[in-house]
Amino acid sequence: MSDDRNRNDNGHTDERERVCYMCHRTESRTVKMIRLPGDMHVCTDCLQRMIDSIGTNGLNFGPMSGIPLWNAPQDGKDPRSDLPKEALETLPDVMDENGNVVTPETEEKEEQHGNGGHGPGHGIPNISFINLSDLQQGFGRRQQLKKKPERTGPLVDPEKVLPPHKLKEKLDEYVIGQEKAKKAISVAVYNHYKRILAGDKFDESDGVEIEKSNMLMIGPTGCGKTYIVRTLAKLLDVPLAITDATSLTEAGYIGDDIESVLSKLLAAADNDVEKAEIGIVFIDEIDKIAKKESNRGRDVSGESVQQGLLKLLEGSEVEVPVGASSKNAMVPLTTINTKNILFICGGAFPDLEEIIKNRLRQNSSIGFNADLKDKYDNDANILDHVDTEDLRNFGMIPEFLGRLPIVVTLQNLSKEMLVQVLKEPKNAILKQYQKLLELDEVKLEFEDDALLALTERAEKRGIGARGLRSIIEEIMLDIMYEIPKDDSIGTVIITKDYIENKGVPQIRLRG
Ligand code: ADP
Repeated sequence: MSDDRNRNDNGHTDERERVCYMCHRTESRTVKMIRLPGDMHVCTDCLQRMIDSIGTNGLNFGPMSGIPLWNAPQDGKDPRSDLPKEALETLPDVMDENGNVVTPETEEKEEQHGNGGHGPGHGIPNISFINLSDLQQGFGRRQQLKKKPERTGPLVDPEKVLPPHKLKEKLDEYVIGQEKAKKAISVAVYNHYKRILAGDKFDESDGVEIEKSNMLMIGPTGCGKTYIVRTLAKLLDVPLAITDATSLTEAGYIGDDIESVLSKLLAAADNDVEKAEIGIVFIDEIDKIAKKESNRGRDVSGESVQQGLLKLLEGSEVEVPVGASSKNAMVPLTTINTKNILFICGGAFPDLEEIIKNRLRQNSSIGFNADLKDKYDNDANILDHVDTEDLRNFGMIPEFLGRLPIVVTLQNLSKEMLVQVLKEPKNAILKQYQKLLELDEVKLEFEDDALLALTERAEKRGIGARGLRSIIEEIMLDIMYEIPKDDSIGTVIITKDYIENKGVPQIRLRG
């Protein structure tokens, strides 16, 4: 970089690289930097977006209207002369006070004729005429969301808000096991939407306001946490956003702003704010934002994220970036009230079992109730004993837990349950493959011990039902490839030997 390019307002040279005031990229990563007074720099990309935004927002700079902002002389020359030709073509024209278009060439001519250069007295307004506070006000006036066409039906269809036992029955069609969780969630979801459907009725009658009940789901990977929430949202026909807590950071740090979880919900609601306001947000991997042990520096992706989520969970008006994961000057914002949004957090909480066991052991090791030390070691349902103290010990802050009053636990799926997952749900994977082969008029059958062998493989991967699909796809690849070759094949039977790579599937010919 030459000294000339890095000269600041005082005429001194600066060793540092220029950084764009808007997007914070350095000059080496952007196109071209334009210097503004006060040693501020803006890259031409941002400047162009600024101009476009001024165009769409109808911002009025009075005498500055229609004039590119880089009309300030830099080191005695017009900065536009440094811009590449294509960039110049996209810029609006600069007019002099008589309305004539001014280009770098015409200016040169004027100077030769002794008409002077830029600055006060010259026809072209100088950048110093910009009132920077006007500029900020202008950007404060952000783009508005397009108005939605009039809605015909209600936001929540009362017919779809089934009583808990019916809701659970529907869940049973899709989700295997997890009986307690399905029951608790059906009740919570029913109450939540009943409350929304009743509107303000509750307040008027006796002053009792029913608060919403957000939920915390604790269970190992691939046991159906996301699947239950997804199925519920489909049954209720409400928008659903699924996000990952690991990508969130405190505003201003690299990562997604906390409000971005609502941006996703808004997108799921087709940018209909009212619809988004009765949706469901599922925040996965919530255990990853546990408070970190170390006290070096700020915990921007742990405790701070929990703090940031508080106001969302509680119910408040939140400014949300539309179509982006963080707020900045270029992103339109909209306000969403989270009062009626149901937040469900889910996480595997590794090591939580140990924390629960330790507490239970401590409680039962003294006095008449003293128990055998290893009583809890082999308890498969140890998670059922979880309480807020354990979650606090895990690293969740009390205020956060206070806003998730319903805690449900889910169990690891046993081998038998995994077999059921393969065969029974409405949209079971085996049913999907059978349907695919049916189109080729081929019957697909699985022997029982083949399914068991398959689930054993899935179990070894330790990712619950999540692993089933990839294993089935591996197994079915050859079959799906070979079958269309041969018209005579009528039935394919998958055997245990085939799953264990010891044999081939049994084939029966047609007729
Ligand atoms: P996680 O608990 O990690 O959120 P998911 O709910 O995403 O796991 O499960 C992954 C996939 O496994 C689901 O899409 C679903 O097809 C299947 N699955 C998991 N648990 C169950 C279950 N209990 N019943 C039926 N299918 C399940």
